[in-house]
Amino acid sequence: ELPSAGALVLFGISGDLAKKMLLPALYQLTKAGKLTVPVVGVARCDWDDDTLRKQAREDLVDAGVEIDEDVFARFASLLSIVTGDFDDPATFDKLKEATAGRGFLTHYLAVPPSLFTVVAAALAKAGLNDNARLVVEKPFGHDLASAKQLEASLTGYFKPDNLLRVDHFLGNTAVESLMVARFANMLLAPVWHRDYVDNVQISLVEDFDVADRGSFYDAVGCLRDVVENHMMQVLAYFAMDPPNNSTSGSQAMEKWRVLNATRPMEPADTVRGQYTGYQDVQGVTPGSTTDTYFATRLFVDNWRWAGVPFYMRSGKALALTATEVVVQLKKPPMDLFAGFDTEGTPPDLVRFRLDYDTGIRADLMVRRPKDGGPPVSVPMGVDYAQVMGRQELPYENILYGAIIGDPTCFAFYPTILECWRVAEPMLDYPHPPLPYEPGSWGPAAADDLPGLVDGWHNPGRL
Ligand code: NAP
Repeated sequence: ELPSAGALVLFGISGDLAKKMLLPALYQLTKAGKLTVPVVGVARCDWDDDTLRKQAREDLVDAGVEIDEDVFARFASLLSIVTGDFDDPATFDKLKEATAGRGFLTHYLAVPPSLFTVVAAALAKAGLNDNARLVVEKPFGHDLASAKQLEASLTGYFKPDNLLRVDHFLGNTAVESLMVARFANMLLAPVWHRDYVDNVQISLVEDFDVADRGSFYDAVGCLRDVVENHMMQVLAYFAMDPPNNSTSGSQAMEKWRVLNATRPMEPADTVRGQYTGYQDVQGVTPGSTTDTYFATRLFVDNWRWAGVPFYMRSGKALALTATEVVVQLKKPPMDLFAGFDTEGTPPDLVRFRLDYDTGIRADLMVRRPKDGGPPVSVPMGVDYAQVMGRQELPYENILYGAIIGDPTCFAFYPTILECWRVAEPMLDYPHPPLPYEPGSWGPAAADDLPGLVDGWHNPGRL
């Protein structure tokens, strides 16, 4: 059991992530009674505590949060800021003073990745590392070798048990639900197997483009931004074997095992794309070969999944925004009902919507009433928000886990290495990506990925 923190130190509290995600999530945690410890922000701006509180209110409004004044007063009273450069030891002396008497600390690094080691070293120099854990944002390295290097540097300053690595998809309740839906329902558990599953498709598609983040995105691309990390974690949750028990260690082990059995990406099974107009975005290098679309076919070489293709695709400026896992089941063995043609009927699909209108949907074939026609497909589904109310924001689960020391929502280091290993052949791929029109479903070549007989099942209404 890891210790619970007496304060959360939020490095980069004036940054984009803090504004859009972390401060709204911390407010929701306060509302739920789950945030009771002080939040000490660190950044180089010239804010004081009042400016931070004012800014936090604006951030909540921008994020569409309906502010309850009593909750906000409680939240604001927990917020304070220490200002200074991370290069300046005086910043950490001030931080030491501000956190004195708080016991165990959680240091959350919402700062550019190039500063992860700089801050960890400065914390150690100030003696703020012994009784503390370090939480680092994504990305964890930019390839296999740099991920190992980063781990080696950070564990030079913090004990391995006190190091947590963020992948915010692991804070998404609907992603965790992939595992729960399988292992808590005997309707689904037995069919999650190569005997019944024809193929699996994971789509993380966005209808917006890179907007004003050209220089950030151009150095990263689609594979590094979302496929090698978030989508691989979704694959792990989907395809893992049942853990021995409910501990985070047992779950982490099963997720690692399935990724460890995943073959590296094959160039012949991959399509990279770039939307028309990307080259004109400010900050994008002229002639850039960065992928804004990435689709691939993967195989998991284990007893359960041998031979079942897992298709993944993601992209910007596509037809709509959704994250969905679609399981295509095998056809029934015979045409038993008049007019029911196993070849001609639509594929038997189970859809898990993981982002935007989360829920599950399966289509069932049933007898059409009276007219004696062929069986008809009827939807059977559930919208999680309709039955369970508001779903937590992923960062609520991440920040709460960071404060109380629950590693469940964080990426297991050996799993991160497997993700980089799988992606390695396609990182820094030298050939230019294929063009596609904004608002489309990406390059047409992705429809011809090997073995994609029934095509992509585009996310639609659940
Ligand atoms: P950002 O907007 O550039 O914010 C960086 C923060 O770090 C600011 O608060 C900045 O303070 C502070 N900072 C930078 N250099 C500093 C220095 N030398 N000394 C003191 N403070 C310094 O970055 P971000 O977009 O929030 O990203 C932060 C992390 O979250 C990154 O690891 C990123 O990959 C990850 N992430 C971001 C997003 C997103 O949507 N933005 C999504 C997922 C993950 P000042 O403002 O005072 O300069």
